[in-house]
Amino acid sequence: MTLAHTLGYPRIGAKRELKKATEAYWKGEIDQHALEAVGAELRARHWQAQRDAGLDLVTVGDFAFYDQVLNVSVLLGAVPSRFGHFDSQADGEVDLDTTFRMARGRAPSGQPAAACEMTKYFDTNYHYLVPELHAGQTFRLASDRLFQEVDEAKVAGHPVKVVLLGPLTWLWLGKVKGDGARGDDAERLELLDAVLPVYGEILTRLADQGVEWVQLDEPALVQDLPPQWQQAFEATYNKLQSAPVKLLLTTYFGTLGDNLQLATSLPVDGLHIDAVRAPEQLAAVIDRLPAYKVLSVGAIDGRNIWRADLAALHESLAEAKARLGERLWLAPSCSLLHVPVDLDSETKLDTELRSWLAFARQKLDEVVSLSRLLDKRATPDDQARLEAATAALSARRRSTRIHKPAVAERLGAITPGDTERASPYAPRATVQRRKLDLPLFPTTTIGSFPQTADIRAARRAFKTGELSQDAYEAKMCEEIAFAVARQEALGLDMPVHGEPERNDMVEYFGELLDGFAFTEFGWVQSYGSRCVKPPVIFGDVSRPAAMTVRWSTYAQSLTDKPMKGMLTGPVTILQWSFVRDDQPRATTCRQIALALRDEVADLEAAGIQAIQIDEPALREGLPLRHGQWQAYLDWAVECFKLAAAVARDETQIHTHMCYSEFNDIIASIAALDADVITIETSRSDMELLDAFQDFAYPNEIGPGVYDIHSPNIPEVEWMVRLMEKAAERIPLKRLWVNPDCGLKTRGWAEVEPALANMVEAAKELRRRH
Ligand code: GLN
Ligand code: ZN
Repeated sequence: MTLAHTLGYPRIGAKRELKKATEAYWKGEIDQHALEAVGAELRARHWQAQRDAGLDLVTVGDFAFYDQVLNVSVLLGAVPSRFGHFDSQADGEVDLDTTFRMARGRAPSGQPAAACEMTKYFDTNYHYLVPELHAGQTFRLASDRLFQEVDEAKVAGHPVKVVLLGPLTWLWLGKVKGDGARGDDAERLELLDAVLPVYGEILTRLADQGVEWVQLDEPALVQDLPPQWQQAFEATYNKLQSAPVKLLLTTYFGTLGDNLQLATSLPVDGLHIDAVRAPEQLAAVIDRLPAYKVLSVGAIDGRNIWRADLAALHESLAEAKARLGERLWLAPSCSLLHVPVDLDSETKLDTELRSWLAFARQKLDEVVSLSRLLDKRATPDDQARLEAATAALSARRRSTRIHKPAVAERLGAITPGDTERASPYAPRATVQRRKLDLPLFPTTTIGSFPQTADIRAARRAFKTGELSQDAYEAKMCEEIAFAVARQEALGLDMPVHGEPERNDMVEYFGELLDGFAFTEFGWVQSYGSRCVKPPVIFGDVSRPAAMTVRWSTYAQSLTDKPMKGMLTGPVTILQWSFVRDDQPRATTCRQIALALRDEVADLEAAGIQAIQIDEPALREGLPLRHGQWQAYLDWAVECFKLAAAVARDETQIHTHMCYSEFNDIIASIAALDADVITIETSRSDMELLDAFQDFAYPNEIGPGVYDIHSPNIPEVEWMVRLMEKAAERIPLKRLWVNPDCGLKTRGWAEVEPALANMVEAAKELRRRH
């Protein structure tokens, strides 16, 4: 029998129950008892869903009130002292409020303290809390939660498999802080010997509870690992093999590559591989798999929302089944945390589009049916599911809603000239300077102004039909006029319209482009209680009509200063959507780029002299393996240029990125050939500009002079000092003065004095230089 299981299930709830409960708890609206009850109810429901689908094991340990990586840190007692726990000295449980304070700096009880750092989990849009470590740290078993959850599942009568982040990936994701921290890869490994006994203790306790299988997630194995880390895998699993449980070592998000031999040879009872992102590794893994091990094949896509081709999978896995027999397990490629919960909630999606999709609950069914098909014990329902999938997929392959000959033709006609501006930067800068007539240290902002409650209420009323189209547009114009007037009064050199009409920088464009669809409940956890609802790019992308021109031209009509048009870039739109799986991502990205190219041309024709194309997601699109970086960067850069290069020399193209770690990709950033790039630098004291200086970055830069995430009003002197530091690295003529990012999350009461100080700082700089 092929065992069916999942690496994890979304915990947020089909109606975002967990989000609502945790936020209510943080606000003091419900007590901890009530919050715990919601957690228990969701766990019970999700385990039952796994059983109802017919999985052979339910997965325990994927639940978290905030983040599963943070849960492991708490389990190991890795709580920085500022949260009131002192390593091994304290012997009590780390309580829930401490966990919340680590995550967000505050909780209903306890002293506020600086939250732990948060960052993206591998190449997903899920953010985890970075394990904060220090040299010489000790660890201890500091939470009973996991064991309680195991009891819960056992009481409910479920066959339990426990999931836990493996010790090496937990350390790999961590960061050593404090005096003397070197920041190299080796220093985290020095803590391994202290961590392993606690893992041993955890595994023993689980065994005592009657747990047979423990899934240890080690996705670090799909990345480029330094040799000492590879060796550490051997040593670690040699030690852990004495634990009285069976270990399933799970890898996902990519190919094992050079770690394949290592992964197959570790002394564990089973291995899971990602056969969606890296189907080609299946045969090689089976060749090397010792006879005592099971192989869990991640055959159903845990990262995307497309319905699986059960017939094709049945065929392609037949050989694996023949070779492995009972040793074959089936699962989604990774935890289902990264997809929405239940397609059945989507009552408004048209039936055809819906027939092409599968969310977490449907993916469980796919795993189960596939395993029964492979075992030749398919029920009529399994057979019907396979046939329905085949029919839906063949309709999808032929659908005229997806395949637009005009889009394909246009893509085929792209020439190298389409991605180059008419002239190089230097002559462009000369004509732009003449035309735009900007002072030294020109001031601008990143695009959005406060999204007030008023604006959001108007949009809600418009969506429900309470507010007419005309009334809504009038309201948006009012907001634009307000923002432009404020900028005039402040004396900003290059104003923006303020983006009041945008709910979200990707969704706004997706709604106006063909080839995009939107779900009602397609929420995916992004961090803590935060969820995102990514658009679904299902078909060829095209632009039926201009998307931003009327707002920008209206804004321009209110001022003599050059209004900056505002677009979201092709890579960011791609990166923050569910992308179709029937063509390369690069192809979809080029389609989006062509649509944006038309928008650039239209803005320019309407008299807009500067256009910003935001690409905050460019960096996060980098593949997990360095060897694949360049190929990605090549098409990402090409797509940006395809959108931008239609602009005439005198039209100034800006771009913006919400970070400043450019060291390793600076050549590609320069290759974008944007006339101006605005970046986040204020928190790093401009040191991150070194990458630009070392590279002799040729175009203009606006290094953010104040952190928009903070409500503090930045002082003039502070910003002058930062710009002086910037001026040591970048020629004066190429510097802009602007905040770090958009201002939509702030209030006008903060924005006005902050920008007034920023304009003052620019004036001071002009006086000095
Ligand atoms: N133009 C966008 C804004 O100002 C950019 C947002 C971003 O970089 N994430 O809101
Ligand atoms: Zn930003």
